[in-house]
Amino acid sequence: MGIQAPLGFEDHLPDRMPIWRRIEETARKVAETYGYREMRTPLLESTELFIRSVGEVTDIVEKEMFTFDKGEKDSLTLRPELTASFVRACVEHGLFKKKAFQKLFYVGANFRKERPQKGRLRQFHQFGVEALGATDPLLDAETVLLALRFLEELGVPGVKTKVNSIGCPNCRPKYRDALKAKFAPIIGQFCENCRRRFDRNVFRILDCKVEKDVALTADAPRVQDSLCADCLAHDKAFVEALTRAGCDHKQDPRLVRGFDYYTRTVYEFTASGLGAQDAIGGGGRYDNLIEEMGGDKAGAVGFAIGLERVVIALEAAGKAPEEEWFSTRVFVTHIGPETRGPAFDLVRQLRGEGVAADMDYEGRSLKAQMRSANRVKAPWVVIIGGDELAKGVVKLRDMGKSEEVEVKPGELAGRVRE
Ligand code: AMP
Repeated sequence: MGIQAPLGFEDHLPDRMPIWRRIEETARKVAETYGYREMRTPLLESTELFIRSVGEVTDIVEKEMFTFDKGEKDSLTLRPELTASFVRACVEHGLFKKKAFQKLFYVGANFRKERPQKGRLRQFHQFGVEALGATDPLLDAETVLLALRFLEELGVPGVKTKVNSIGCPNCRPKYRDALKAKFAPIIGQFCENCRRRFDRNVFRILDCKVEKDVALTADAPRVQDSLCADCLAHDKAFVEALTRAGCDHKQDPRLVRGFDYYTRTVYEFTASGLGAQDAIGGGGRYDNLIEEMGGDKAGAVGFAIGLERVVIALEAAGKAPEEEWFSTRVFVTHIGPETRGPAFDLVRQLRGEGVAADMDYEGRSLKAQMRSANRVKAPWVVIIGGDELAKGVVKLRDMGKSEEVEVKPGELAGRVRE
């Protein structure tokens, strides 16, 4: 057996590309319809970036990062998400000085050292948007609607939206105290992770998937009872905007999400056909991150959608294009060594005129070359034989109609474009 790809890292073979291209094209189209501009940042960032933004007591930073030279000053990490990178890049390049409000999007790979399973990979791709520099709750709604439009255009089935507010630095301490007071007498009954979270990040206990812990938190205090007036008003305006847009959504007081940078609005999307990992995307507001990354105080909101999960959901619903996909429009065949050169010239000429053309490079017989043309579904085949060459014409075969005509090489491009 030869060398294999590492566990949790997938190849996207050519027959998988139609679905991937459709997804990426839809992402770009929808994001641009909403006024977002594409940006790209490096796959590697300084480790410090994620510790400071995502947060030290999160699954990602504690155990899921691919880190080089851990503990050293110039330690680097393969990005586990893109929000922190986007904020870093905007601050670093002074984008906010040119324009205080930026609407940006990305399509790209992330890396997390998780236990691989269906829908959970170590390299996965996300489409995400970030609206940076404003606190308007309508913007929270805009990002939700954009995500839903993307999923809807692709035909992802059974999409559900959950929303919540997790408050701000003013009211979060009150909620933290309420949770701690509730859990303190029973903390010994929780899983080891939650016992650790109790001191360092008690909110994450609400996110625990261990069944016993879910039951223990069933009557935990609700965040809504702790929110300050500003957070309540923000949440109300956000939810009203969704309702006005006819967007079906559910308030989920347990939704906390796995990053420390979130403030106020958080949301998550699930879809059918995904099995245990049914979250297809999530996002929220992060009003303190820009300042923490060295910028001015400015609000921001965004989401990320996992594209491998989009593929799984579409395939489960039978909505992924299965057609093998080839681009060749004209396959130029040749008979014998003396016509190889002219065939190569003709292919070059057609390509120069913008027609996708190809030929045989394996020294196959004419019959086998016709089979090659069929396999790539070329609608036209050109046959260059000694006789035609002498007459200064080539034979053009319409593969659909099984008809052949003689044409001058200069007229080919025009004929096959019809
Ligand atoms: P998160 O950044 O963790 O909120 O993830 C946003 C979305 O990215 C999730 O809803 C998933 O669809 C996707 N995602 C996150 N982690 C993985 C992973 N390890 N493998 C595949 N998709 C993932």
